[in-house]
Amino acid sequence: MKKDTIALIKRAQAFAKPYCVSNGKKFRLKKIDPGDTAGLTSEAKPRAKEALQMGISLLAELQDMLYAQDRWGLLLIFQAMDAAGKDGAIKHVMSGVNPQGCEVNSFKAPSTNELDHDYLWRTHLRIPERGRIGIFNRSYYEDVLVVRVHPELLEKQKLPSRLMTKRIWEERFEDIQSFERYLSRNGVMVRKFFLHVSEKEQKQRFLDRLNDPEKHWKFSAADARERGFWKDYMNAYEDMIQHTATEDAPWYVVPADNKWFTRVVVAAAIIDAMVSMDLSYPEVGKEKLAELAEAKKILLAQK
Ligand code: AMP
Ligand code: MG
Repeated sequence: MKKDTIALIKRAQAFAKPYCVSNGKKFRLKKIDPGDTAGLTSEAKPRAKEALQMGISLLAELQDMLYAQDRWGLLLIFQAMDAAGKDGAIKHVMSGVNPQGCEVNSFKAPSTNELDHDYLWRTHLRIPERGRIGIFNRSYYEDVLVVRVHPELLEKQKLPSRLMTKRIWEERFEDIQSFERYLSRNGVMVRKFFLHVSEKEQKQRFLDRLNDPEKHWKFSAADARERGFWKDYMNAYEDMIQHTATEDAPWYVVPADNKWFTRVVVAAAIIDAMVSMDLSYPEVGKEKLAELAEAKKILLAQK
């Protein structure tokens, strides 16, 4: 590996680390400032964008090896309040990767068919294959977030009444932890991102959407009403992170009031994850080398 690349990797690792929660027990959401930019002022923005571009190129190289090696899968989960920048972060950070090796899935309110299954079912179908990166834009975590904030959604899940107890959230956290451990043990590395936007910044972004005809499609009156449940959501997020942040499947709680900063942290965290896989191109054996030499001879002899 080139010296520059090694330096970039080290910077990425150091940059992502403060936002990584791998043991949720003492996690307090209050302590995280959505406006945090690690001391960088807006003057640093151009340099951050440059670093992001370098990171994006590095990600493309790593993905190429991931694909060639065909052993690991990488699952990236994005959760956030509306307008926190999930779509933009996914679009920018993954802009350099080969679409053949990457799949984005967005999970909306479940269909009738999906409600006839356990809540992990629809996501399990979308877990990335070996060699691939899978991105979840929302995920089974909605089943301990929006469903917890709006209990009527739980009613729709058609569970036998005796299973609808006060312990249901604890039980879901336990099951999610087990599921993610299972994935890890099967070579699917899991990394989770909570893009933490402030209530104030969300309001501003909603207003921007309302003022920009090209963004109207992204907005509904329900989004504005949902703000009324802000506290409930923050409590649900905190509880979720406390119970599901693990070494195997850490949460990155990413300050999201400044999009340029969010994207750099996300890219850095993905680089860190992929570097930890010790990726390399598969080595070919003697026989294969002989076959390649033979192929070269044949090609050169042809007109
Ligand atoms: P968006 O991606 O912002 O267009 O919206 C998708 C909507 O689907 C969000 O309001 C989510 O809260 C909702 N959603 C996603 N998963 C679930 C779920 N399991 N149960 C209920 N609503 C969900
Ligand atoms: Mg929406």
